[in-house]
Amino acid sequence: MNDIIDTGRLMLLLNELRLPAIKHLWPQFTERSDKEGWTAARLLMSLAEHEVAERDRRRIERHLGEAKLLAEKTLDNFDFAAVPMISKAQVSALCAGDGWLEKGANLLLFGPPGGGKSHLASAIGLSLVEKGWRVLFARTSDLVQRLQIARREFGLEAAIQRLDRYHLLILDDLVYVTKDQAETSVLFELISTRYERRSVLITANQPFGEWGKVFQDPAMTLAAVDRLVHHATIFEMNVESYRRRAAMARKKQGPGRTAQYATTKNVGPLTSSDNQTES
Ligand code: ADP
Ligand code: MG
Repeated sequence: MNDIIDTGRLMLLLNELRLPAIKHLWPQFTERSDKEGWTAARLLMSLAEHEVAERDRRRIERHLGEAKLLAEKTLDNFDFAAVPMISKAQVSALCAGDGWLEKGANLLLFGPPGGGKSHLASAIGLSLVEKGWRVLFARTSDLVQRLQIARREFGLEAAIQRLDRYHLLILDDLVYVTKDQAETSVLFELISTRYERRSVLITANQPFGEWGKVFQDPAMTLAAVDRLVHHATIFEMNVESYRRRAAMARKKQGPGRTAQYATTKNVGPLTSSDNQTES
């Protein structure tokens, strides 16, 4: 029996089979295996495990690239003490993804500017990607514009379908969408298509009372809000701007003002009274 193998040919075969980790690792693994007397099965198992681990790592890297998350906004550098109404434990549970992304439930973050909505949304997105979920972070106005272009080219349905590959679509700053009827209807199409199948995370400065200004037609507003909140967790982040508080704290050399009023709640189906604009 001839134990000499043609390593050049082996490299070609591993290339052909697209097994880059094994291609890289086999010389050191086989050497160790010979030295330590591993069984052939154990060697094969180790190589296979490394290939799969490497594949997972590359996939997550790819998903991170496509997610377009905000740079350097993580849960580690999010100060939970600044938003006392949000429980870190609840956020951690959401970051596992199980239990809500599978059923297309939603997460809604409301609060005034600077309160950390975009930071928290992006950080949750990052955690989810690291756990293997696919996420896309988009400014709502940018995404609406893209969908509008798609619609003009008769490709709206396909464009919305392509977003299906994302388990979570983060629509940052919903209320800043301009109030043009055509724009709001592409947003409505998107929300309707994802309903109970794929999750959305929405951040908005205004709670539902003001959404009549996003979706001009009241029936459309009600239908959109109804779908969004049907299976949703809502965080009301009614805190002062984090930066302003930090600046004031530095100035006073003391702690910033504390949050005044806020709640975290899970909501059930919406009633029409939830959609009344303030008079
Ligand atoms: P919003 O989207 O609610 O307007 P941002 O998430 O953009 O607010 O927050 C404004 C800035 O303040 C960002 O740089 C963000 O990282 C920071 N920030 C806000 N809240 C927190 C927090 N709780 N911990 C750490 N940084 C925060
Ligand atoms: Mg924001």
